[in-house]
Amino acid sequence: MNPSTQPACSPSYVFGPVPSRRLGRSLGIDLVPLKTCTYDCIYCQLGRTTHQTVERKPYAPGEVVIRQLQEKLSTLSAPPDFITFSGSGEPTLNSRIGAIIEEVNRLTPVPVAVLTNGSLLHLEAVREALLGADVVIPSMDAAHPSLFRLINRPHHSLDFSQILEGLKKFRKEYVGKIWLEVMLCRGFNDEDQHIERLREGIEKIGPNRIHLNTVVRPPAEEFAYPLSKEQLEKAAHLLGGKAEILPAECHASAARVYGEIDREVLLLLERRPCSLEDLSRAFGVAEKDMAASLRKLRDKGAVGYEVYNRTIFYKPGKKSEKNLSLGR
Ligand code: SF4
Repeated sequence: MNPSTQPACSPSYVFGPVPSRRLGRSLGIDLVPLKTCTYDCIYCQLGRTTHQTVERKPYAPGEVVIRQLQEKLSTLSAPPDFITFSGSGEPTLNSRIGAIIEEVNRLTPVPVAVLTNGSLLHLEAVREALLGADVVIPSMDAAHPSLFRLINRPHHSLDFSQILEGLKKFRKEYVGKIWLEVMLCRGFNDEDQHIERLREGIEKIGPNRIHLNTVVRPPAEEFAYPLSKEQLEKAAHLLGGKAEILPAECHASAARVYGEIDREVLLLLERRPCSLEDLSRAFGVAEKDMAASLRKLRDKGAVGYEVYNRTIFYKPGKKSEKNLSLGR
């Protein structure tokens, strides 16, 4: 079934390709409803967590996810660089993620990446589930429990040292690549002393790379401020040779999606606020044409926007779900 002919109320678990700063053209698989997470990070681009939980459930039916993936791959003029599990929250909360990764590997040679906050890696079932991924990108923003609680605002049952142990165990068991992400917010976790302590913790985990990130999209809390380029460079230096700063812009090349662009744009905006440039590049559409589509969607109330750092970021509008029945 072509995506454009799916029943209007059918949830879409597959979105993109998304312009990704580290994964090129990344086709997203979203296995949890908005916004289901173990954390409620101050910098989250999805806004505040509305369903904070540590309970793993089969939120998305695997066979539907795989069918949607097959359909999406057939509409692309070129395969994506990665198939990435990410989206509306913490993907390892989906108890079927391991089986779905296996199915994806059977279906396509496109490498699989998982973006996770790593909070459930202390569970053997979660570590096992991610063994089939080519790249796992966990996050670690704090070197001690009080800062962890301040920045990531975790579920009350989560324990900082248990999460660290989970990351270390996963490193021992997993042969794929681990790219650890550190999100730095000015005034919270960017002090030299803290970064040095963070480096000690990260060395015990042993990731292949360290990705330094800062707030580049509208955050959940206004007080989550970004670091300047110079501050990021200093932090990268303190973190050592494996640390690299994620570029503020994505330079993935365009891949045209044959289908209903408006719907695809909305599916992407449901998972990530995007600038005009992001959208134009993601869908291989000239900026003036994308701007015309966005104007139309804004007139319908399906798309809204927010200005952050002198850039307009488009987001779902108040009538997004109602008008387009995206099933979220
Ligand atoms: S940034 Fe990631 S881990 Fe943090 S609240 Fe958002 S979805 Fe959850």
